[in-house]
Amino acid sequence: MTETTPEAASYTLDECPHCHELVPPGAFCGNCGAHFSDAGGRSRLHHYAAAPHEHVVKMSVISTLFPHLPRRHAHIFREVFVAGVIAVVLLGALRLYTPALLAAVILLPVLYLLYLYEVEVYESLPLQVLLATFGVGAALGTGYVLGFGHIVHFVYNGTNRGPLFTALLLPVVAQALMLAGPLCLLPLARFDESLDGLSFGVSSALGFTLASVLAGYSSTLVAPLQGDGSISTDDVTNVLRAAILAALVNAATTGTMAAAFWLRHHGRSRHRHKHPFLGVPAATTGAFGAQVGLGFASYFVGSLLLVVVLWAISAAVLLVWLRLVLHNALLEEGAEHNIGDLSACSECHRLVPAMVFCPACGVVRSAAPKQARPGAPGRPGPEPAGRPVQAGPPGSAGPAVAGSTR
Ligand SMILES: [Zn+2]
Ligand SMILES: [Zn+2]
Repeated sequence: MTETTPEAASYTLDECPHCHELVPPGAFCGNCGAHFSDAGGRSRLHHYAAAPHEHVVKMSVISTLFPHLPRRHAHIFREVFVAGVIAVVLLGALRLYTPALLAAVILLPVLYLLYLYEVEVYESLPLQVLLATFGVGAALGTGYVLGFGHIVHFVYNGTNRGPLFTALLLPVVAQALMLAGPLCLLPLARFDESLDGLSFGVSSALGFTLASVLAGYSSTLVAPLQGDGSISTDDVTNVLRAAILAALVNAATTGTMAAAFWLRHHGRSRHRHKHPFLGVPAATTGAFGAQVGLGFASYFVGSLLLVVVLWAISAAVLLVWLRLVLHNALLEEGAEHNIGDLSACSECHRLVPAMVFCPACGVVRSAAPKQARPGAPGRPGPEPAGRPVQAGPPGSAGPAVAGSTR
């Protein structure tokens, strides 16, 4: 890399060994996102595109489902999620079933709404679109339970209708309904990033799961309030599985498909990281396959504890798979190479040229809230490529900007 000094009012652009474009100096290529010093720099598996301080292959609920959350806020959400799960288990152990079940049902949706509020991902209108996606998912979830309610006793398993109906038809219908809302938004050019697709997918899946659990398990949810003592430990365990683990599974499968659909439909792929296991066919097959596989497992496995373990393992695997698909999509996504005006990175706060990736910390700029992206690449207004930028180097010596960019 060419040496620059803070005293110098400009720095020299260097050629990236991976994409061969001239880019500002830093730890990462601002154009293709590759890490300059890692051996596997091009795929940068040690630096997840939406949270570069994390490995891509990591089981993380918060940074996977809430990719717009800056690092300084992510730990709060993580602690709230863990505290919520512990509270649910403790309430259950104390046989306070109604509070335990209601806390479990609302835990992820409440976290998601807090996330939308906290990061101000979108301006007011798209926020309404996201909430509408949640509402449509909830309406479809309610309709799903009411529609099948007279045929099946439970939403996810335990029916007397045979394995094909219970384990094949029901999960496929549920997954298709969760995907329906996001797919209606797919043609809108305004929402052209794969992270938009992910947000819509997660929103729809959480709305669907919330409503279907509330409607499907209403008798269990209110049983302790009625004081009839008829609720069993198995009932409680099943609701907890449906409320938390099924919500994670549904968010992961729907989010994975939506992200893959968005990357393909909006034609923003730069065709550098093509992989057959990360495209639309694999995402669709894997998502529906996982739902059907879990349907059969829930139907045939006798032990409820084993079913819960299977759902937990599946949720973890599906979340990691979603990260791989998203990471690939974020490395792929982008416009023609250009170097925008200096602006503060929402993740590391350094003043860096607006590019697809922050040259200093490597976060993809599309993970920043949309209104905090002045002159972002792929949007109107960036400077032409190859222009020396008046600033200190955007690496570790770059000037830090105090405060949030929100
Ligand atoms: Zn590059
Ligand atoms: Zn940064």
